[in-house]
Amino acid sequence: YRYVAKFENDAWGEGFLSTDENVVLNESACVLQYAQSVFEGLKARRTKDGRIIVFRADLNAERLEDSAYRLSMPIFPKEKFLEAVKMVVKANEEVIPSYESGGSLYLRPFMIGTTPVLGVKPALEYEFRMFASPVGPYFQGGKNSVDLRVCDLDRAAPHGTGNVKSGLNYAMSLFAITEAHKLGYDENLYLDSATRTYVEETGGANIFFISYKGEFVTPKSDSILPSITRRSLLEIASKYLGLKVIERRIRIDEIDNFVECGLCGTAAVISPVHSIDDHGAKHVYFGGNYSENSITGKLKSILISIQNGEIEAPDGWIMSL
Ligand code: PLP
Repeated sequence: YRYVAKFENDAWGEGFLSTDENVVLNESACVLQYAQSVFEGLKARRTKDGRIIVFRADLNAERLEDSAYRLSMPIFPKEKFLEAVKMVVKANEEVIPSYESGGSLYLRPFMIGTTPVLGVKPALEYEFRMFASPVGPYFQGGKNSVDLRVCDLDRAAPHGTGNVKSGLNYAMSLFAITEAHKLGYDENLYLDSATRTYVEETGGANIFFISYKGEFVTPKSDSILPSITRRSLLEIASKYLGLKVIERRIRIDEIDNFVECGLCGTAAVISPVHSIDDHGAKHVYFGGNYSENSITGKLKSILISIQNGEIEAPDGWIMSL
């Protein structure tokens, strides 16, 4: 089951559940011609005692609002978004993976401009949908750490759309990720496009480093996606592990100064980074062998325990269904 709501005559209609996975569109729908689309990604998980919980869905609702605003789309109200999450999760309860499997039910909310247009302008009508799929780990092959390469192509321009979740940011990453996979890397590490000096993020996750002093350091930039996982880790690192947390610009030529590195995101959860290849100069972190005693390992285990409902989360982080 998926949730569907339509925006017509300047208002959102009543949302409903549907078993129809197809969207029928006019060939000149704004989304097909001018990529007017925004989306989100979040997970519902089963707890050890069989309950179903969702992590920080309110922040996904807020980020979708920011993305929609940037693409001149109507705001899909937060209350409606949270109601859609509940409806879709409940309707698909049977296919939520068990706690033991480590899997989850991935929810993909998205919104598209459906009005036919020829001249470049925003649509007048929109469709919001939320579909679901059971998922396992993001990086294939059971690897427990990932290999990155510094990418020569850019992901986001200053004052562009890198800080919102729009399909267009991912369309332009397809060429680079296909090439990276062919060359044996798991992901691309993008640099700031203005100076190609600072670390930004990867195609589908934010990045963080652990310094020799045991500080949690993560890039500050207006052109990266404000990851909900990263925002949560900043709190976890300081409140649960007592680490100093630092958001600042990180130069690519200082990545050797860190001892650990990890990717974070809804899909990646925390994926420890084994290596970053910067045009042949390879930086290897922690021998790629992150034990539970590494700071990355500890952060991962706390994050997963919070997301699984095993340890108490800060107020408002967990929605029980
Ligand atoms: N950065 C990019 C480009 C992403 O696509 C994602 C995935 O959603 C993230 C970061 C991680 O964000 P979040 O933690 O909110 O899932």
